[in-house]
Amino acid sequence: MQIRSKTLRWLLVLGTFVVGLIIAVQLFWMQKIYSFEQKQFNINVSKSIRSMYEDLNVLKDSSYSFERNIQNPQPNFYIISLDTVYPLADISRILGRELTDFDIFTDCKIGLHVKGKTGYVEEQYIDMPDANFSPRKNATIPVVEEDRNFVVLYFPNRTRYVIRQMMFWLVSGGLLIVVLIAFGVSIFYLFRQKFLYETQKDFVNNFTHEFKTPLSVIKIAADVLKDPAIVHRPEKLANYAQIIQQQTLHLEQQTARLLRIAFDSQKSLPLQKERFSVKILLEEALKNLEPLIEKRAGIVKISDETNDSFLYADRSYMLLAFINLIENAMKYSLHPWLQILLSIQGDDFCILFRDNGIGIEKKHHKRIFDKFYRVTSGDIQEASGFGLGLNFVKTIIETHKGKIEVQSETGKGSSFIIRIPRT
Ligand code: ADP
Repeated sequence: MQIRSKTLRWLLVLGTFVVGLIIAVQLFWMQKIYSFEQKQFNINVSKSIRSMYEDLNVLKDSSYSFERNIQNPQPNFYIISLDTVYPLADISRILGRELTDFDIFTDCKIGLHVKGKTGYVEEQYIDMPDANFSPRKNATIPVVEEDRNFVVLYFPNRTRYVIRQMMFWLVSGGLLIVVLIAFGVSIFYLFRQKFLYETQKDFVNNFTHEFKTPLSVIKIAADVLKDPAIVHRPEKLANYAQIIQQQTLHLEQQTARLLRIAFDSQKSLPLQKERFSVKILLEEALKNLEPLIEKRAGIVKISDETNDSFLYADRSYMLLAFINLIENAMKYSLHPWLQILLSIQGDDFCILFRDNGIGIEKKHHKRIFDKFYRVTSGDIQEASGFGLGLNFVKTIIETHKGKIEVQSETGKGSSFIIRIPRT
């Protein structure tokens, strides 16, 4: 499971990076095309103005240069100098024709400023055959206060026009990005599906393992009991009967756990709260686990720093939570040593389970509380399970509006800290 989730993560990171890169390249190209279109617009306007100069002969010295005769303080605003004042109607007619000839199909407002006067003595609107989107006849031409003769050209819809020129690129680029994102999302779901399938397969494997051993022990014991000679050896008979009883109990517990967790569609548990001593409940949990603790030669120490260790909670669910945590401390340790510390911190009742076990790598800390999640390690043979215990503990604690967290380092043991509000 470890390797699979790691590969999946890398694939996702790589996929996101590639999609991000393609989107960045797309945006870069869009920007390039936008500045190209802007430049083209500028060139075509300059050409139109130049032709107008030639047609009207408005410059005394007939040599024309962009730098000398045209100022472009804003991308959509041109100031063109005049030596001779011409009627604006003539300028407008010629300019309109030239702009159309040079493929500038966006509306334009022009204003005539005469030396010695303020503002524009005359204004004209040049309608364009293709300027059918929001024509702005009443747009206000920016004011230029310079004491000379000049005409201003103002294109109120210039940006929209340039963007419209790029429409094909915008639509195709946008489509590509949408397709890429859809592709990325499908791949993500596909992998997730595969991951869930693998997790389920792991679960079935664990399940089979957990049930196969007691079943084969029962089968052997039953074979022995079938032998008629066994009645003459009552101590052996009692021994085998007890083995069957123990294994059945184990199976019963496992089945109950499975049913309660794996097939429980409800998120929260129905609580039956009562007041009880946490210390006494912990002792009860230890009694339940006596065979396991003895088998693992475990040492468990309870320290109570609370004045009274009473808590108002669901006793039977809390018992199950304690059993799961103590069981894990015994399972995931070579020479189990567990300290349980009870304390009051603010409004919370805190229960700390600190063991000296194999520890848990940081990257698994969040996931160990997920259903069916197990950190597989070949070190400890006894450590079989379904990966359901901690998920169940978390559900119990959170149903009590509490929190559970883990602090652990590989090889140094683990601490599980439970905090439950006392009120
Ligand atoms: P299970 O024990 O059935 O695998 P759990 O949900 O109880 O499932 O635990 C999930 C995983 O967390 C375990 O597989 C184990 O790797 C890790 N784990 C839980 N408790 C401990 C602990 N006290 N020390 C080390 N690892 C632990």
